[in-house]
Amino acid sequence: MKIIRYQTKNEPIKNGWLYNDMVGEVEGDVFSEFRRLDAELPLASVRLLAPCKPSKIVCVGRNYLEHARELGNEVPKVPLIFLKPPSSIIGPEDTILLPPQSSQVEHEAELVAVIGKRCKGVAPDKAKKYILGYTVGNDVTARDLQKSDDQWTRAKGFDTFCSFGPWIDTEFDPADALITCKVSGQPRQMGSTRDMAFNVSTLVAYVSSVMTLEPGDLIFTGTPSGVGPLSDGDTVSVTIDGLGTLENKVKAA
Ligand code: MG
Repeated sequence: MKIIRYQTKNEPIKNGWLYNDMVGEVEGDVFSEFRRLDAELPLASVRLLAPCKPSKIVCVGRNYLEHARELGNEVPKVPLIFLKPPSSIIGPEDTILLPPQSSQVEHEAELVAVIGKRCKGVAPDKAKKYILGYTVGNDVTARDLQKSDDQWTRAKGFDTFCSFGPWIDTEFDPADALITCKVSGQPRQMGSTRDMAFNVSTLVAYVSSVMTLEPGDLIFTGTPSGVGPLSDGDTVSVTIDGLGTLENKVKAA
């Protein structure tokens, strides 16, 4: 099932599901009890929003060897985690704004796991039970500020720096999926999720050993090599084979 959040003109925001290119409303809570209504609205007639509202966004740094090396780092011995604030979230039809404080804003194409049930201290072999599904993410980063600051809160936390969507796919298999990123049509990143240093189950276990995860919380699982700059006027698109494409325009703030 593909889960979306959407809006049509003058209507409140709704949860929905996708059947081919048709949208149906979902009544109830997509994380527990819900009912799917008939899919009778064309996808092109709705505005897609970020597909859930996380209480927190946990990200993993340097989870692909080639990417760690391209920035002069090694893969850490245990997962390196940091947070992005919910205020940085944008959806698949929103624009990434380049803040004046940075002259080097970059894309990071990532597979994102969406937590389905509250959990703490999950064992790796039980982690799948707590994942609702997967979505496509862009962990937008002010690389110059990431290098100058010890903590990454500023570099990772600007408004519009957390794009994810266009839907949550509850049937996607994260074991070996191709992740690519293009900027204004030019290929930038290509990698497979099989090359993660720490796989999704290990990451859920590790993060949940630190903090309680809530339904809708996100785990950005790290980016493969090929990160690079975004400029005013660009369009950045992240594709994960079998999952979908997330595309955003880029503008100077
Ligand atoms: Mg990242």
